[in-house]
Amino acid sequence: MFRWNDEQLMVRDAVRQFIDKEIRPHVEEFEHGDTPPYDVLRKLFATFGMDSMARDRFKRQIEFERTAADAVARGETPPEKPKREGGFDPSMQMIPIIELCRVSPGMVTAMGVSMGLTAASINSKGTIAQKERWVPELLTLEKIGAWAITEPDSGSDAFGSMRATARRDGDEYLLNGQKTFITNGPYADTIVYICKLDEGNDPAERKILSFVLDAGMEGLEQSKPLRKMGMHSSPTGMLFLNDVRVGRDRLIGETEDVPAGGRSGAKDTFAMERSGVAAMALGVISECLDLSIDYAKNRVQFGQPIGQFQLIQEKLARMEVARLNVENLVFRYIEMVQAGVSLSFAEASAMKLYSARAATEVALEAVQLFGGNGYMAEYRVEQLARDAKVLQIYAGTDEQQIIAIAKDLLRE
Ligand SMILES: Cc1cc2nc3c(=O)[nH]c(=O)nc-3n(C[C@H](O)[C@H](O)[C@H](O)COP(=O)(O)OP(=O)(O)OC[C@H]3O[C@@H](n4cnc5c(N)ncnc54)[C@H](O)[C@@H]3O)c2cc1C
Repeated sequence: MFRWNDEQLMVRDAVRQFIDKEIRPHVEEFEHGDTPPYDVLRKLFATFGMDSMARDRFKRQIEFERTAADAVARGETPPEKPKREGGFDPSMQMIPIIELCRVSPGMVTAMGVSMGLTAASINSKGTIAQKERWVPELLTLEKIGAWAITEPDSGSDAFGSMRATARRDGDEYLLNGQKTFITNGPYADTIVYICKLDEGNDPAERKILSFVLDAGMEGLEQSKPLRKMGMHSSPTGMLFLNDVRVGRDRLIGETEDVPAGGRSGAKDTFAMERSGVAAMALGVISECLDLSIDYAKNRVQFGQPIGQFQLIQEKLARMEVARLNVENLVFRYIEMVQAGVSLSFAEASAMKLYSARAATEVALEAVQLFGGNGYMAEYRVEQLARDAKVLQIYAGTDEQQIIAIAKDLLRE
């Protein structure tokens, strides 16, 4: 794949039209955090049938899983999982991400955490009953999800320093702990809460378990949105758990014996999240480049458009190089998914590292190209630069991506 095909371009244009009508005129309200992004995202889903497609795909998946489980129960060999689900084209997910990120990357953060992280972690390790209970409404955004691993004292060292606990209490568990920087935390209906099973043993040896919580459960408090540098259309908050009582039906997989203590499930989630960041970066870069070209043609200094100055041309050329590279990474990802080939953890990390850095550099250079106007909110590159920065921090910092890549390269 080296360019979008006609069908993809049609979808892109239709999504653009929706964004121009429903989001651009109200971007100030979303960016000031006055209006949570969920209703407009639901409208986007309904307009493009993304909700019914997600529902249908989920139904097919569950039918397959039931057939496989019945076969196993009868002592037969289960049917092989289809490598590529019929009709699924990952570009149909990537295009809305790219287009939304041209205007309001925070919306993608809110949407991605709900559908991507929260729904996916239940859908990959949950029982069929758990999937049916929580996943469909998350996939359609009827319900909003949050995925909570980070704590005040545990970020990059997510498992090592984790303090959140689950303690057995008869057939149930009592959950305690604090989570921070949780996307959708203030408004989430469904929360995946990652913690350690406290059996009185050494914290380093405790199993990692994930539970599904519903808003309003006794002992669960969701904070107001935190003030932050950018991504203002994505509400971020804290969660406080004080003896939240849950049954085994809320323990993802309904077993404490998750392979590798639950760490592998979180790692799969990290890999998926990392590849999504490249599409976000592509949106930011494309918008900054378009705005910069326009400004370079129209802003006149020393009697000529600034685009005539070589120093400005160099900035534009570098932005175009970044755009091409990140676009190629996105194309490669789409082709790999279509071929049923998974990205390795190191590949996903490399993709995230490069794209996040490129988006931040391009957006800051766009601010520079716009001069004083670039520093003013009215000229939009200011917002995109603030938004882009977090791509280097969440979903694993740049430093964590480098460590993941190097570990893979140096593996014996
Ligand atoms: C807007 C936003 C939304 C978020 N959403 C979510 C969410 O939905 N759910 C969730 O669970 N979390 C979320 N996070 C948390 C995010 O994943 C963490 O902030 C991130 O993983 C970094 O952790 P930290 O902030 O504790 O930084 P730290 O881990 O304390 O890192 C501080 C600095 O030290 C560096 N560092 C750490 N370890 C090493 C090392 N071994 N070698 C070299 N350098 C190192 C880091 O790279 C960084 O530069 C969000 C964060 C933000 C800002």
